[in-house]
Amino acid sequence: MLGANIFYSEYNILFAILSLFIGIASVFLIKDDKDFRGLLFFQIGGLCLLSATYLTGNEHLLYKIGLNYNFVTFIEMLITLLASVMWINAASELHDNRPANRESLTLYISLGLTACVYYAFIFYNQTTAIYVSAAFAQICLALLFLSSLLRFNRQKNIGNGLLCLAICILLGKLLISAFLYKYGWLNLNILNWLWIYVFVAAVIFTKFSILQNDLRKSWNTIDNLNIQINNMIDLSPFPIIIAKITGDKVLMINSTASALFGISKKEAHYHKISDFFIDEVNRKNFFTLLETKHEVHDFDLLVCDLINTAPFWLSVSAKTIQYNNEMAIYMAFQDITLRKERETHLQQQADKDPLTQTWNRRYFEKLVPEYIKECIKKSQNFSLLLLDADKFKNINDTYGHKTGDKVLIELAQICRSSLREDDVVARFGGEEFVIFLNNTDSVSALKVAERLRQNIAADKIFDDKNNAITFTVSIGVVSSEKTDSLEILLRQVDDAMYLAKNNGRNCVALYNEEQVGALMAHKQGNVNRNIHPVFENEESEEISLLDNYDSKFL
Ligand code: GH3
Ligand code: MG
Ligand code: MG
Repeated sequence: MLGANIFYSEYNILFAILSLFIGIASVFLIKDDKDFRGLLFFQIGGLCLLSATYLTGNEHLLYKIGLNYNFVTFIEMLITLLASVMWINAASELHDNRPANRESLTLYISLGLTACVYYAFIFYNQTTAIYVSAAFAQICLALLFLSSLLRFNRQKNIGNGLLCLAICILLGKLLISAFLYKYGWLNLNILNWLWIYVFVAAVIFTKFSILQNDLRKSWNTIDNLNIQINNMIDLSPFPIIIAKITGDKVLMINSTASALFGISKKEAHYHKISDFFIDEVNRKNFFTLLETKHEVHDFDLLVCDLINTAPFWLSVSAKTIQYNNEMAIYMAFQDITLRKERETHLQQQADKDPLTQTWNRRYFEKLVPEYIKECIKKSQNFSLLLLDADKFKNINDTYGHKTGDKVLIELAQICRSSLREDDVVARFGGEEFVIFLNNTDSVSALKVAERLRQNIAADKIFDDKNNAITFTVSIGVVSSEKTDSLEILLRQVDDAMYLAKNNGRNCVALYNEEQVGALMAHKQGNVNRNIHPVFENEESEEISLLDNYDSKFL
């Protein structure tokens, strides 16, 4: 029985199996670290070979299968030698990580050692050979210990320290088992178990430090990526802002955005997105869309900068992202002020009469009901004026259509300049204008109409031949005192305008049910002639532009 056999004990079979199992498991556990894996392979190889000597040490078993003592000892010696070679290799791995020299190293060492043992075995005796191989095993293990000490010095971490301790215990175990066990100085089992615990701890800590290293590398990579992304965002020609989802505090702003919103990058985190998104409804719509879809494309936002707070339009594309471990919104903007201006202009063109630049009838009918709702809410009266140029056909016939157009433009201009900002002037048809007077009762409306009529009558324009042209209008007036239905009021103001025409033109007439009724009754006889009562005396056919409201006269 060899003294170098670390499993030298009848009770140590469990230890042998366990240590092998742990050793092999460790190789898999540390499979990521190339340096450490080589070391483990050799160390486990050494242990495997030594555990095999347990079998050779079981004399009864070997004698039973007919092997003689000399042969058994010889095999045991060879195995111990191989184990020594393994440890030498492990030591070289630990020392300078030079696996390229491993093959030649293994060859020379094993040849040299085997030659020595052979020599002792043949020229001296068994016992000498046994001691020689035992001594080699000790020396190799001592080398392994020294190398692990060096590794620990180079890379001071708990894993390396524990590895060094595990090899030290193994060495001590071999020394004691080789020379001292027979005196019963030490319970060798304690060292066995101690070795296992320390070795397992070494492997676990090594794995832990590998993971920690990997983690550090990953964080470094993430940090570098973050720097790169921040640089890219900063260089973007588009304004970009990253803000917190909750509390919408600005987390990051690029140079373009900081110039656009008039805040320095350093102070950006004192601001909230809501400081810029001034229109509350618009902002709410944007955040609701973002909440439901997590992504918004080309959303038009009304914003302001912090220098002169003048609102302007931006188109924003946004996405919820994770930024520095918190949920954030990434927003890229595009200046669309020009586009918005063009859109507004086009919209206004669509709503305006191209000749006089007053609102057209369609827009009037869309806008005025909103005004009426407001008046009803505030319990205010409102009035309508219907203004019709007198004998306009004559103007056209005398001075030409072009001059007629000029008169219409002039009429619209006088209306606009004589009325308040929130009164609505619209061209209702050919030479008819309808006017909505906000917060005005019939008395005031009559005054406004009269003033307007006078302004118009006092005005004159010149045609191409420099002829001065004057013109007059007849104005119908109605107020919301009896009804606030726009449809009825339009019909009534039309009637009032015909009253004015009937009263001799260039005058103002307030809607009066009886007067209108009397006028209708008087003109009853003309019903079948399809002539409007006003034109009856002139024998001219009516071509009313208020088609919707004419039916009662037909
Ligand atoms: P009254 O006092 O009864 O209103 O007489 P009037 O001639 O103004 O009445 P009428 O409705 O018969 O004539 C309206 C004329 O307005 C007929 C049409 O040629 C002219 N007109 C309508 N639209 C335009 C326009 O855009 N430009 C010009 N120059 N004339 C127009
Ligand atoms: Mg007319
Ligand atoms: Mg007319």
